[in-house]
Amino acid sequence: MSEDHKITRRQVVAGLGATLAAAAVAPAFGATTNPTTNADGPAKISDPTKLYPKPPYKSQPQPWPGLQSKMDPVPDCGETSYKGSGRLMGRKALITGGDSGMGRAAAIAYAREGADVAINYYPSEEQDAQEVVALIQKAGRKAVAIPGDLRSEDFCKSLVEKAVTALGGLDIIVNNAGRQQSINSIADVTTEEFDATMKTNIYAPFWIIKAALPHLPAGSAIIGTTSEQAYDPSPDLYAYAQTKAATMNYVKSLAKQLGPKGIRVNGVAPGPVWTALQISGGAQPEKQQMFGSWTMLGRPGQPAELASIYVQLAAADASFATGQIYGSSGGVGMP
Ligand code: NAD
Ligand code: MG
Repeated sequence: MSEDHKITRRQVVAGLGATLAAAAVAPAFGATTNPTTNADGPAKISDPTKLYPKPPYKSQPQPWPGLQSKMDPVPDCGETSYKGSGRLMGRKALITGGDSGMGRAAAIAYAREGADVAINYYPSEEQDAQEVVALIQKAGRKAVAIPGDLRSEDFCKSLVEKAVTALGGLDIIVNNAGRQQSINSIADVTTEEFDATMKTNIYAPFWIIKAALPHLPAGSAIIGTTSEQAYDPSPDLYAYAQTKAATMNYVKSLAKQLGPKGIRVNGVAPGPVWTALQISGGAQPEKQQMFGSWTMLGRPGQPAELASIYVQLAAADASFATGQIYGSSGGVGMP
């Protein structure tokens, strides 16, 4: 992280109060406060244009799927900031892609809201995943780490079984893992790449939901991570963007199908968010460096800024929300 970035973050966090400021200098996953018990008065408002480091970022390509702990700046997944208030007490959640990015932000928030959480991730992401396990445990909840490749149907079935066994049931599923590879011409999209994108983004949620359904009681919530790309696809994301349209679409059909059973199905549509997805092939190098500069806030989102949406869609008091797509995109894109 550059000195400018450090200063910006420190100034911002200082604005949140002395307790959190102390936490900000601790390692990302070593928050010194217990956010679930932190009741330090009225929330302060902050200017969203000044909350986080703005582009340009340094060039930092990583091989797929990337480690967010090696990014500069490291994405903020709410490690030192998310405060729970018991909204998911006793719930049991499975989150794919729970090691980093939006999935990690959801995992941290869910645990601090009182849920036990199983996370899936690709085996090479063990380092990021273990940080999340430590954060869930620090919140006083059960953490289950289940590495494996979502492109395999057998693995997806075993993932659900392992999560159900370890958590003693399941009532929240977040199909969040995703594959995004930027390729400028359809002529260069190999069948293998196209297939990997479809398997990860479309087949895996299908296999996981199918395997999980017999275990889901009425009141359960299924959440998919779609994208602004579902509505306004970029030319270099031919394969990826159509999977996000499919995600938006399955959310709406499944919500109709499962509504009578009392199971809600919703989606989150992020705009540009600073995550490992983008620097491990998801965006062209020049786009990575100026990532998110085109939003109305002059910067990309951080995963922490979407955590409360994942909480809201899972929480029992959102009982009338189903078949919805909640967006968060810094004033650009849809929905
Ligand atoms: P991320 O790289 O932090 O998370 C994606 C995760 O997907 C990885 O951590 C990995 O664990 C998982 N994954 C991918 N392929 C897998 C496989 N074969 N087996 C097991 N796990 C696999 O990036 P993120 O941006 O937080 O991505 C989360 C979701 O958000 C994705 O669905 C992505 O499409 C979506 N999204 C991201 C953005 C953005 O700008 N970052 C915008 C819109 C939507
Ligand atoms: Mg990851």
